[in-house]
Amino acid sequence: MKTTVIIGAGVTGLSTAYHLARLGAGKVIVLEKDTVGAGSSSRAAGITTGLLWTETGVRVRQVATAEFRRLGRELPGYTYHDEHGCLNLFSPALWPARAALLPLYARLGAPHQVLTAAEIGSRWPGLNPPDDFIGLHDPVGGYSEPDEYLPALAAAVRAMGVEIREHTVVHELLRRGDRITGVRTAAETVAADAAVAANYAWVLPLLATAGITLPAKTFIHQRFVSAPLPAPAALPPVNADPYLGYLRPAAGGRLLLGIETPATPDRRVTTADFRLTELPEPWDLVGPAVDRFADFCPALRGLKWESARVGLLSFSLDGEPILGPVPGVEGLFVGICFHSGGFSYNPASGRFLAEYVAKGAPSLDLSAFRPDRFTAADTAAYLATLLTQSQSFRRRH
Ligand SMILES: Cc1cc2nc3c(=O)[nH]c(=O)nc-3n(C[C@H](O)[C@H](O)[C@H](O)COP(=O)(O)OP(=O)(O)OC[C@H]3O[C@@H](n4cnc5c(N)ncnc54)[C@H](O)[C@@H]3O)c2cc1C
Repeated sequence: MKTTVIIGAGVTGLSTAYHLARLGAGKVIVLEKDTVGAGSSSRAAGITTGLLWTETGVRVRQVATAEFRRLGRELPGYTYHDEHGCLNLFSPALWPARAALLPLYARLGAPHQVLTAAEIGSRWPGLNPPDDFIGLHDPVGGYSEPDEYLPALAAAVRAMGVEIREHTVVHELLRRGDRITGVRTAAETVAADAAVAANYAWVLPLLATAGITLPAKTFIHQRFVSAPLPAPAALPPVNADPYLGYLRPAAGGRLLLGIETPATPDRRVTTADFRLTELPEPWDLVGPAVDRFADFCPALRGLKWESARVGLLSFSLDGEPILGPVPGVEGLFVGICFHSGGFSYNPASGRFLAEYVAKGAPSLDLSAFRPDRFTAADTAAYLATLLTQSQSFRRRH
């Protein structure tokens, strides 16, 4: 029987395990250095839209949103909130680049509706965009609460016979010649026919143990959740690039507000020992963030803020995910660099990683995401440069 080890129990690793189990692909072991969701997955705002920037991205998200809907019906304790869809907001300066993608959405059958500021305000009275702003509404987008989704998915995965070993650091990928043979943890060697690196911000030090490098960079990112509002907000999740952030309703009648920090340089993770809890809590950012958003969403004014979560976003050289077989090492696969959209991708990224492992190829053309699309020189140059978030890509959810 074939054995697959998955490194990392975030949404990508768990989803890969889920789909491998559904495919009946043999023994599946997930190795997690801390606990389920200890990486960026538990920090995510969980906002999802299908309206991305490339044909591959849009097609993959069509699979992802359909899967979120199915999982919302099938996973006990998990709800996919698509009651209001997802609103992508643009200023006049930002709109032309997005308007150019409307023919792509039409061709691929990705549902969408362009809304004026007045239409946004009348549909959701809690939102008050400037008169010249434009909305691109995605009726199949929505959001998930990571605190519901992660335990629900982990329980489903375990019920399907997958072993999730927490507090187990993978120190080394083991290969014989050009084949993966397993991984080494502190306690043992785990033999495997295939290994999936789903360890996101920590991937470079792990791949280095097999002599592999990929152009991946990580940036700090944060979001906040308020105290309950006097009355729950009837709002869609909003990707609000003009305000450098996003907001959504949150469990218990709260609001969630997330913001990027454009001037912050990339944060390098050089060891598996690094934990996101080492990042400082970003409470100094919440006041300025509220000031930026308050005219747009007046309910934010005067709110108390109960929690802050900070994590890392991972970006590739061309801004697109890196997903598929690692060149030169048979049996090794990666699913990384999901920018700020790895939560949204996960039901599809896990499915396609599982198809690579179990069937040798995914059911969708994912050549745009393949790890072998980068040259060694470009990878080295990217890794040698310190970039700020604003010098990388803005890829919101
Ligand atoms: C504040 C914030 C808000 C976000 N909002 C959204 C959003 O609204 N929508 C969206 O789609 N995305 C969002 N994201 C991005 C999203 O969180 C990530 O893209 C996604 O969670 C990546 O999932 P993952 O499973 O690939 O990685 P992770 O969740 O980081 O999981 C990797 C796991 O690997 C483990 N690991 C690492 N190294 C090893 C090792 N050597 N051995 C064993 N285990 C190891 C880690 O402990 C970790 O649990 C947000 C991110 C942040 C920080």
